[in-house]
Order: sequence, then C-alpha cells, then structure tokens
Amino acid sequence: METKRQNCNDSCLDNGKITGNIRHVEENIRLACQRAGRSAEDVTLIAVSKTKPLPMLMEAYRYGCRHFGENKVQELTDKYEKMPKDIKWHMIGHLQRNKVKYIVDKVYLIHGVDSLKLAEEISKESLKKNVVSHILVEVNIAGEETKYGISKEETEELVREISVLPSIKVEGLMAIAPYVENPEKNRQYFVELQQLSVDIKRKNIDNVNMNVLSMGMTGDYEVAIEEGATYIRVGTGIFGERHYETV
Ligand SMILES: *Cc1c(COP(=O)(O)O)cnc(C)c1O
Repeated sequence: METKRQNCNDSCLDNGKITGNIRHVEENIRLACQRAGRSAEDVTLIAVSKTKPLPMLMEAYRYGCRHFGENKVQELTDKYEKMPKDIKWHMIGHLQRNKVKYIVDKVYLIHGVDSLKLAEEISKESLKKNVVSHILVEVNIAGEETKYGISKEETEELVREISVLPSIKVEGLMAIAPYVENPEKNRQYFVELQQLSVDIKRKNIDNVNMNVLSMGMTGDYEVAIEEGATYIRVGTGIFGERHYETV
C-alpha cells in the first residue's frame, strides 16, 4: 500500500472527489443535451485515465463508469489485466503499428486510425486473433501540423480503403480540437467534423457505420455535445491534473 500511495497525487487520497467530479460532468452533459434537443443516452462519457493510478480508476468504476480511455499500449494492457473485466477500453492515442498486436483483442474501440498502413495492420492482427476491431478515423480537423490525423479532404477515401479490409469496421470519426481557453473557438471544428460524417454517411459505403463522433475533452465537451458528439473524452475534469513525472 505504501508504494502505491507514493504514486498518488493529492486528489487520489481525497475520497469521493472523483465521484463528485463525474456527477458534475454528467450534469453538464445533461444540460448540454437539453440545449441541443438530444437525449443524454446518446452521449457516452469516456473517463480518460492515462497516467492515473488504479485506486482512482476504481473509484470511477464503483461510481458506474465502464468506458475508460488510455493513450499508451503498455499502460492500457497493464490496467486491462488489473481492472474488472466488464470495462470497455478505448485506445485514444496514436497507435504504432508494431504494438497493434497487443491490444486488438482487448480494446472496445480504437479512436486514432489515420493511415491505411495502420488499418491494414489492425485488420491482419484482428484476423489472426479471430476478432473484429471497431475503429474511428482520426481527422486533423484544424489542420494543425503538430497533430496526427488525416485531412478532411482525404477522409472519405481512407474510409473507403479501410472498408474493404477484413476484420475491421469503421464506426465513425474522431478529432482532437486545438487547445483553447474559450471553447466557443472550437465550435466550428465540431460542426465541420459532424458535417463530414453526415456527408460520408450519405454515400452508404458497405461495411461502414458513421454513427460515432468522438470529440470534446474537459475544456470543450459541452460545445462538442451541442454539435453532435456521441463520445466525449474527459480526463482532467474527472481525475484532476496529470503529473507525467509520477508514471
Ligand atoms: C488526454 C486526452 C484526453 C483528455 O484530455 P482532458 O483535457 O484531460 O480531458 C482526450 N482525448 C485524447 C485523445 C487525449 O489524449
């Protein structure tokens, strides 16, 4: 217990804090859905637990969270082994091709697919393990040089190329909006991602669903919900600030 505690930041030892944070986020989800005339059931909260220790994840789990997001393969597989088996794990980070084999049979949804080569690797490893991998195509919606993701213009073609591969299924689109102080600045990007997904959906591509939109983080999830997000990925707003040096 002693060693575990050294890995915890202050909020980890503050019982009930995480539960309170989730309640707060859920209330904001409810209000954003109300404003947008959507049902709160159509929005799923992913608790982004990267860098956070197991006791914190367990508090969220006991409250009722079943969707967790991680961005590193090693950390995801470690937590997968140690946490309850009814959790749905989301790989939200950039996935390297040589690590695909470690996660295809463990994750519920892979959010960051932005190349045919990566999709081919996911297809190949999924076939080997006799599973179907559900994926989102990551779009670099603001055209930021520092970000992964494919351009808006190339998205449909990539979706078509992936659609013919075995054991992999496109479920929708994902984007990481720029970091901004004022979430209203990202509204236009969320609108664009939603429109892109509607445009692609209209093409009725075989083996492709366009029902999932993964967009919105702690700073801007309410705006993302107003513009159609079906998954929001919230880390800091649930678990507090991340301290990378403790991992
Ligand atoms: C870390 C991360 C999040 C969560 O970010 P917060 O601002 O802490 O909510 C969401 N999405 C991705 C892809 C991330 O890497």
